[in-house]
Amino acid sequence: MTVPKSHPRYESLMKRDKLIEAYKSGMVAEAGMIAHGRGEAFDYLLGEETIPEAEEAEMAAASLLLHAKNPVISVNGNVAALCPEALVELANTIPAKLEVNLFYRTDERMKKVIGHLEEHGAKNVLGLKPDAHIPDLEHARGLCTKEGIFTADVILVPLEDGDRALALRKMGKTTIIIDLNPLSRSARAASVTIVDEVTRAIPNITEFAKQLKGQPPLKKFDNEAALRRAIDRITNALFELRCAFGPG
Ligand code: ATP
Repeated sequence: MTVPKSHPRYESLMKRDKLIEAYKSGMVAEAGMIAHGRGEAFDYLLGEETIPEAEEAEMAAASLLLHAKNPVISVNGNVAALCPEALVELANTIPAKLEVNLFYRTDERMKKVIGHLEEHGAKNVLGLKPDAHIPDLEHARGLCTKEGIFTADVILVPLEDGDRALALRKMGKTTIIIDLNPLSRSARAASVTIVDEVTRAIPNITEFAKQLKGQPPLKKFDNEAALRRAIDRITNALFELRCAFGPG
């Protein structure tokens, strides 16, 4: 698709294009396209930029990942399609393991996502040969590896569904979720919720990780307060938009 860079929706259209290509290649599931649409709607309300609460959460996430014993980044089809290089750079910077974990898991899709990450420089991507299971999740969705997600103490799960986010928390893990919807079950279940678009959030975490290397851990992040502020921001944005229509 040819879209001029000056187009006001250029970034958004490029992301859609990447997802359409990834869907055609079998890397992204149909439901992944719908999930992206829900994210876009929230991004629209947030002004399509990183809000201060998200920046604070990204800094907290970087510190938690740097101080973890076994930090793991869980990757799904959408995230791999949207920002594979950024994922690899973050994994190398921390350093953290990459594990592919899909809601609609098939061996074929697993191989596609892993192959795509490898094409962008990833090494030793976990997930294809699961040997452990997350308790309280039905079979395919709970599959993971002992080396990675199962024993991770800090796990970054961009775009997670609520059930898995809760199950990971119940295992005692520190969970960092990236989700543009501050109202989602995942957002509310996480230790740290980054209300930001994933292609902005991942490079931001990497930058903070570079700055925070060798420094002591940051103080505990107040996730509820950050979610409240993100919801206030959306409420105020809607109110301003409503006011622009005048009284009546
Ligand atoms: P939950 O089960 O947590 O209530 P859900 O069922 O609404 O969530 P899913 O469809 O499992 O959510 O996951 C999609 C979530 O990811 C949505 O909340 C959406 O806002 C978010 N999302 C989608 N694309 C992006 C993106 N590119 N960056 C950040 N967040 C995104």
